[in-house]
Parts: sequence; structure tokens; C-alpha cells
Amino acid sequence: MDNNCLFCKIIKGDIPSDKIYEDDDVFAFWDIAPQAPKHFLVIPKKHISGPAAMTAEDEQLIGKVIRVGAELARRNDIGDNFRVVFNNGEGAGQTVFHIHMHILGGRNMGWPPG
Ligand code: AMP
Ligand code: ZN
Repeated sequence: MDNNCLFCKIIKGDIPSDKIYEDDDVFAFWDIAPQAPKHFLVIPKKHISGPAAMTAEDEQLIGKVIRVGAELARRNDIGDNFRVVFNNGEGAGQTVFHIHMHILGGRNMGWPPG
């Protein structure tokens, strides 16, 4: 828990979110500014600032973030065609420094990404 972190506050319930799923390890909610017809975020409850701040002990946890995200995509009618994004660093578009996986679906995705 980082007292200054927006996503830690969302996990705690201090800031409301449109929650999709929660268990002991992870939390998922719809993105407030969706970039696709279906766009949600999956985050670990543990505060990790981003992919580059991960340690070996976080590997299983972030693996779970990915597995749960794929399951939630199926459950929310996205199916098996979706884009997974982890932004790392301001230059890559990271604006919230609590590691989060974007899942975007419901439309065709261009490649390469911008
Ligand atoms: P990033 O730019 O990769 O750091 O992604 C941060 C994401 O969090 C953006 O897609 C924002 O739209 C989203 N976001 C910011 N604040 C909230 C919030 N209160 N509830 C839901 N999503 C949020
Ligand atoms: Zn946090």
C-alpha cells in the first residue's frame, strides 16, 4: 500500500471504481477513459510501480494478473481476441505508477501499436 497511489486507493475502496473482479491477490476494473469498446485494467494488490520494478518474487503474481485477465475477457464477452498492454515509464505512456495490465477488446487492433 502506497498512500499516494491512485490504484492503491481504488483497491482500498477510498476511490470508487467500476469493479469487475477481486480476490486476495488481484483487482480488476473498467478503465475510466476506454480506448476500445471494452477496456479494463487488472492490477496486483501489491504496490509495484511498474514492470521494470518487478523482482523475481513478483513473477507468479503477475502471471496470475495475466491469467485472470484472460478469464475476465471471456466472461465479459471479449472472447479470445484482445490486446494486452503494460506501459512502463512516462515516455511509453505510463500515467499511474502502480503496475497494471490493460485489456482492450471489442474491435480489431492495429499493429504495430503507436
Ligand atoms: P497508463 O497510461 O498505462 O498508466 O494507464 C492508466 C490508465 O488508468 C488509463 O487508461 C486511465 O484512463 C486509467 N484510469 C485513471 N484513473 C482511473 C480511475 N479512477 N478509474 C479507472 N481507470 C482510471
Ligand atoms: Zn499502488
